[in-house]
Amino acid sequence: MEHIKCLIIGSGPAGYTAAIYASRANLNPVLYEGPQSGGQLTTTTEVENFPGYPDGVEPFQMMDDMRRQAERFGTQIRSGIVTKVDFSVSPKKIWVDDDIELTADAVIIATGASAKYLGLPSEREYKGKGVSACATCDGFFYRKKIVAVVGGGDTACEEALYLAGLCQKVYLIVRKPYLRASEIMQKRVFDTENIEVLFEHNTLCLTGNGKVEGADLVYRKGEENEELRHIEINGFFLAIGHHPNSDIFKDYLSTDEQGYIITHNGTPLTNISGVFAAGDVADPHYRQAITAAASGCKAAIEAEKYLKSI
Ligand code: NDP
Repeated sequence: MEHIKCLIIGSGPAGYTAAIYASRANLNPVLYEGPQSGGQLTTTTEVENFPGYPDGVEPFQMMDDMRRQAERFGTQIRSGIVTKVDFSVSPKKIWVDDDIELTADAVIIATGASAKYLGLPSEREYKGKGVSACATCDGFFYRKKIVAVVGGGDTACEEALYLAGLCQKVYLIVRKPYLRASEIMQKRVFDTENIEVLFEHNTLCLTGNGKVEGADLVYRKGEENEELRHIEINGFFLAIGHHPNSDIFKDYLSTDEQGYIITHNGTPLTNISGVFAAGDVADPHYRQAITAAASGCKAAIEAEKYLKSI
């Protein structure tokens, strides 16, 4: 059975940054990429808010740059999905693709989070062509255009408010007759002139020629006064929640009620010594590439400290 000194799970900005720092510290890291090489970022069209790229950068390019930087210092990058762990033993046990069994002294979890989608076929068709799950990442491309945000929670309100500052008009599509968001966020939404809240609306499908140009909605679905409506939009933003990719760790690590791994006081330390969590899997709030990268750096520094101590 292979033994690894420092195992990194995940290939987004947190995982690669942890790999860069861990390999430069001679921790001989091995990184398993997971189901989506490059992580969530590769689902956006362009990255313009990561420092160091004054002209913006394609997400695949940026993730490839990070990968090459990690490899340059000796990180072994492998394709494979970690499917099971046993953190009750020392060294920790890890299974890859269900059948490869490894042991590791330190484990950095950087498995990210996945945005929830409605599950419409047209949503998949227009992904990256008008469909997005991150207003901060993609909002800029819709300046002075008309967009819709789906959801009634704090994230949806936050995204709608952010987009309202850039776009001509924002529809907020809410399935219930009320918002679930906090009072203060609701007030901000209602006080913003270019946000129109469409209560009791569900999205049936997106329309357009090669990119999003509209959405077919249904008002009061299944009720007597059900009504079909069409809105013209250029962008369709999902804000119906994220799911942290922490399921396989839950038997060992403390998580909050949404499944985000709980870390201690702004550090990547979890409740198990030698196991660190970085990036979106432990961050319900910021969810940015730059904050994920920063926490990956912290995780590698903590892993180094831990490995010296055992
Ligand atoms: P929430 O779970 O709070 O809200 C999700 C929203 O999406 C709900 O309105 C829900 O509708 C709606 N929704 C879910 N599934 C569907 C669907 N299939 N079709 C249509 N609508 C759907 O998630 P958030 O991401 O908004 O927030 C997560 C947590 O993070 C919350 O605790 C929130 O308070 C917190 N947060 C705080 C912020 C802040 O304080 N500034 C900013 C962002 C998040 P329904 O209500 O009908 O279930």
